[in-house]
Amino acid sequence: MTMTKWKCKQCGQCCRHIDTVPSMRRFAREDGSCIFLRGNLCSIYDRRPLVCNVAAIYEKFFKDTVPEDEFYEKTAQACAELQKGIVSEHEHSEPGKH
Ligand code: SF4
Ligand code: SF4
Repeated sequence: MTMTKWKCKQCGQCCRHIDTVPSMRRFAREDGSCIFLRGNLCSIYDRRPLVCNVAAIYEKFFKDTVPEDEFYEKTAQACAELQKGIVSEHEHSEPGKH
């Protein structure tokens, strides 16, 4: 099966619930969104935390154990759920573009 590599759609949804991510909670506004979010985009994109950088997370933590296709497929599923408004504390741990 050919897998199209995941691509961030820049919907900003993963940056709107960072109060559910322990390492990001300090950057959360009262509504749960990140103080660095401007519209749908990250205002500190080039300096965003590691947890916001999907490709860097894969390289650092999963490259040796998880096939790239599988990792990005799960990322795409998580994005789709966020886009449907389904936020799970367990599944949501990767904010930003990403
Ligand atoms: S990583 Fe996913 S949820 Fe976050 S902005 Fe990109 S497409 Fe949206
Ligand atoms: S990518 Fe990270 S730092 Fe940037 S707005 Fe989203 S949650 Fe905030």
